[in-house]
Formats: sequence, structure tokens, C-alpha cells
Amino acid sequence: MNENILIVEDEQELCMTLGDRLRSEGYVVDFAADGASGLDKATQLPYDLIVLDIMLPLRSGLDLCIDIRRAGMDTPILLLTARSQTVDKVVGLKLGADDYVTKPFDTLELMARIEVLLRRGRNKIEAASSNRPDQYKFGSLVLDVRKSRVTRGGEPVNLTAREFQLLCYFFEHPGETLSREELLREVWGHRGRTFTRTVDVHVASLRQKLESDVKKPGLILTIPGIGYKLQG
Ligand code: CA
Repeated sequence: MNENILIVEDEQELCMTLGDRLRSEGYVVDFAADGASGLDKATQLPYDLIVLDIMLPLRSGLDLCIDIRRAGMDTPILLLTARSQTVDKVVGLKLGADDYVTKPFDTLELMARIEVLLRRGRNKIEAASSNRPDQYKFGSLVLDVRKSRVTRGGEPVNLTAREFQLLCYFFEHPGETLSREELLREVWGHRGRTFTRTVDVHVASLRQKLESDVKKPGLILTIPGIGYKLQG
């Protein structure tokens, strides 16, 4: 799965150089050239990492740091600081940034730090999944956790990575009413109510793929006004 990186920086040349480099390493790269659009993107799309310059038009990188964390997002943030902004580094880390690199930076060093932050994120996901059983069964449906595979009556069902994680979470909590907010937090890593529609879209897609009658779901039930429940 390709990891998504957002670069928030107003220096176009730096964006191009860094963007090319990251793409050549297989990352998917997106850009924002000022603090306002940076905040919009950072809080509306699920990135795996945000590279955030401190000196930005409209809103500083430090303000953005606060806003992103306040929005409940725990996406790793790597700050770019100028040599003269020593104080800002310390402040930035306190405000929720995970690491910083001083400009002008060595690309290799930056790439190494990005890799460390992304690996940390991946390890978190793996640690969360290490206590799971290997398999879940529901009627003719079998979810193989280790192989990340789902079969229905022995036939493989094609799920996206996120659909699979969502289905896993339902199977880990059979018969429990799960709110959209909880699903968003546990499966997507978001806090708040901003993206609750995302949950509905994914549940609808799971139903399309798993239910015999989408209008009368027998697996994932809708709990009106709250969220969903796996038939226990
Ligand atoms: Ca800048």
C-alpha cells in the first residue's frame, strides 16, 4: 500500500525537489502552499505523514500543528525550520510535532527521518493487531486475519485495506453497538465527527460485497442515530 505524504510549504522549488524525491521512493505526494489550505487538507484527508514548514503565508506551521492535533488527528508531523528558529523547534515538539529538520537540510537525512516516522506509524498498527485471533467466522464468511483475506462460501471476497480493517474491528466487537465516532477513531485514527460519512460509505460498500440482501443486512446492522453493530 502506498503511503500518502502532504507537504505544506510555500517555496515552490523546494516542493518540487522534495516531491520528486519522495515520489521516486514510491510515496504518493500532495502539496499545500499556505497555512489555510494546509489545514484543510491535513484535516480532511487521511495522510500517513505531514511535512510542515513553519514559515507559511496565512497561518504558521506552529499554528497548524496545534489545529491538526486539536482536530484529533495523530498523523506524524515533521517540521521544517530555518536555522534561526531554534526556539520554534522546541515549541513545535511541545505542540505535537514528532520531529524536525533544519533548513537547509540534507535530503538523505530528511528521507531517513521520514522513513522513521512512517515506520513508527506502521508498528503502531501492527502492535494493535498482534492480540487478535487468526480467524473469525460468521456463517459462510471466514475472515483470515494473518492472510488479510476474506472468503464467503469458500470464494474470495475482494476488500480494500480499509474495508478489511473495518470488518476486523466489527469481528473483534461482536454484538457491541459501535458509534461512528469510535469506528472513525479506531479504524481511521481520526477524532471528532468531521468524517462520520466516511464510515457510512465503507459500511455500505462492505454490505454490497458481503450481504445476500443489501436492504436487509444480516451481518452489520444499523443502529439508528449511533452507528453499527455486528450481529452477535
Ligand atoms: Ca516557507
